[in-house]
Amino acid sequence: MIELLNLQKQYATIEGELIDSFTNVLKSGQYILGPYVQQLELEIAKKIGVKEAIGVASGTDALILTLSAYNIGAGDEVITTPFTFIATAEAIAQVGATPIFVDIDPTTGLIDVSKIEQAITERTKAIIPVHIFGQPADMDEINHIATTHNLVVIEDACQAFGATYVNKYAGNLANAGCFSFFPTKNLGGIGDGGIITTNDQALAKKIRVLRVHGSAKKYFHDELGFNSRLDAVQAAIILVSLQHIDSWNKTRRDLASNYIEAIDKIEQIDAIIEKEDRKHVYHLFSIRSKQRNHIMQFLAESGIRTAVYYPCCLHLQPAFKYLGHQVGHFPNAEQLSNEIFSIPLHPFLTTKEQNVILHALRKSVKK
Ligand SMILES: *Cc1c(COP(=O)(O)O)cnc(C)c1O
Repeated sequence: MIELLNLQKQYATIEGELIDSFTNVLKSGQYILGPYVQQLELEIAKKIGVKEAIGVASGTDALILTLSAYNIGAGDEVITTPFTFIATAEAIAQVGATPIFVDIDPTTGLIDVSKIEQAITERTKAIIPVHIFGQPADMDEINHIATTHNLVVIEDACQAFGATYVNKYAGNLANAGCFSFFPTKNLGGIGDGGIITTNDQALAKKIRVLRVHGSAKKYFHDELGFNSRLDAVQAAIILVSLQHIDSWNKTRRDLASNYIEAIDKIEQIDAIIEKEDRKHVYHLFSIRSKQRNHIMQFLAESGIRTAVYYPCCLHLQPAFKYLGHQVGHFPNAEQLSNEIFSIPLHPFLTTKEQNVILHALRKSVKK
């Protein structure tokens, strides 16, 4: 089977470095926060080009702590996309605010910026664009709208470590950026983890307090917070992967451009469009077709793994039933969720495997 992702191969290529780092953590006796987390925070801030990075327990928590630090909660509305992983809107709901969905551009899967303004009300406090599949959202337009209406912008960059927009990295395109180190993300650890990037030093200070139960001074609590700390093992492992991420992302982009060139010639299949002013990092390589289910079955029979990200839009999830949405409210997102699927793409996919996949794709479509 050609898998969507091959973490064993990734591990094997850096095994020695990982074991050394892991052993160093074990010997250090300091397993939560500490020097490895500090080093990771410094290196990620430097890489992304921001003043601060704050390690937390997951990408979901990165969103929750950032929203909390901006005092967003009950009675507030936060605009986001219905075409994302549940965590984006779940974080909004978990701080007590209401997720307000805005439909997407079906060619990219990104929030449709032309529809944001009509969703803004007196209660709107923030916009969370999602850099879906690894491609930054239309940040100039989003930041312009946010400035006009005095809103905060938080990037959900969980799928986009190393992606760029014009000449800046994702995570440095708004008030704050949230990343996930979930193992399958393009910069992943060996457990849960996340990080927030920002140039807002007051925000960073607040998040550093929130992640340790609201204490700036140990055992003294001016406010209530969370237990959401990055652990040293994740930090040490990610410090190793960080040395390889540019080369891994480049391989992802090279493989993606082979796919795009070939898929261009298959009438029944469309690739997600990569916009000119940005660099997509292809956390997932997603394509769309009216024949999706048939193609996926054909590929499965040819030994090729595929998966649908995401089969159900957030506004139609039972968990968000209370928002009162119905089929038809966000037609582009719904249509994309009916047509989209991902094919294998990771830094260790060989050209030979890619050719097998392309051959199967060409054979799969019905005229
Ligand atoms: C993975 C992901 C998250 C959540 O990250 P976790 O580390 O799993 O909590 C949030 N948003 C998006 C778009 C994601 O892909």
